[in-house]
Amino acid sequence: VKNQIHSYYAFYNEELKSRIIHNKEMEDRMETALAHHEFCAYFQPKYDTETKELAGAEALVRWNTGDGRIIPPTDFIPVFEENGLIVGLDEFMFREVCRQQREWIDQGRRAVPVSVNLSRYNIFYSSFINKYQDILREYEISPKLVPLEITESVMSEDEVLLRNIIDELHSIGFSVLMDDFGTGYSSMTMLGSMPIDVLKLDKSFVDDIGDSKGEKIIRSIIDLSRGLGIRLTAEGVETEEQYEFLRKMKCDEIQGYYFAKPMPGSDFQALLNTEK
Ligand code: C2E
Ligand code: CA
Ligand code: CA
Ligand code: CA
Repeated sequence: VKNQIHSYYAFYNEELKSRIIHNKEMEDRMETALAHHEFCAYFQPKYDTETKELAGAEALVRWNTGDGRIIPPTDFIPVFEENGLIVGLDEFMFREVCRQQREWIDQGRRAVPVSVNLSRYNIFYSSFINKYQDILREYEISPKLVPLEITESVMSEDEVLLRNIIDELHSIGFSVLMDDFGTGYSSMTMLGSMPIDVLKLDKSFVDDIGDSKGEKIIRSIIDLSRGLGIRLTAEGVETEEQYEFLRKMKCDEIQGYYFAKPMPGSDFQALLNTEK
């Protein structure tokens, strides 16, 4: 019991410490962190629901502070969004994924799309498209191998501008995923006007599987997106029951602890070796 109490307080202190890291300190540390390669990409596999084959991954940033501690993105992304550093971080992640894809292709491994997150600040920051194209050219990577995830909440901002940006991304060859669908304010009707390729059903919906009302809502989202020709990926799938429900509903892809947690590139690479 004493050990448990001790580890509880150790955990509590870590929690508290990370909360106390102030914006200013974060800003200062961001620059050194980039220089010292403290940020890295973790990869969470996505699986084809029907065949259970590896279908791709999502790249998720991790901050490995020199002392062996890993700070989760939820602790620093909000700060980076406030001070604008998120633009540089997203670009770093995009580059990192392109670099990694190039390495895997050169090793003769099976290539699967690895999506990256794009913050609202980047999307409406017009030069990002040119910059991302330069990075694709530098590593000779097809945009098809680096889909872009845009969180649903940006859909409520400037719809016309956003549609134009998505059209431009499509003309280059990018796929566009709508992330966290169901958490923001966008209506179902907006799905019809926004030219997205994949809808990521938020974990909060997946958590409702087992509840008849929740299942009805998921069913109608799946029906609607299928009718509109939008593919569907479910996020945060943790249980067999959730997986089975989504398989019966013919949801296209599954991402979640049920299959795999986010992992370092060296571990993900092993999956590219063994999968046919
Ligand atoms: P997200 O884009 O919705 O990413 C999915 C999050 O859900 C990840 O958390 C992932 O580890 C977690 N997750 C996946 N499957 C499960 C599951 O079965 N159960 C549970 N409980 N969680 C699951 P993570 O890596 O902590 O990232 C949190 C958020 O931080 C992301 O949410 C995204 O909004 C943001 N983020 C991460 N990396 C980046 C990045 O490079 N750029 C930007 N702009 N945002 C990022
Ligand atoms: Ca995402
Ligand atoms: Ca998400
Ligand atoms: Ca989420």
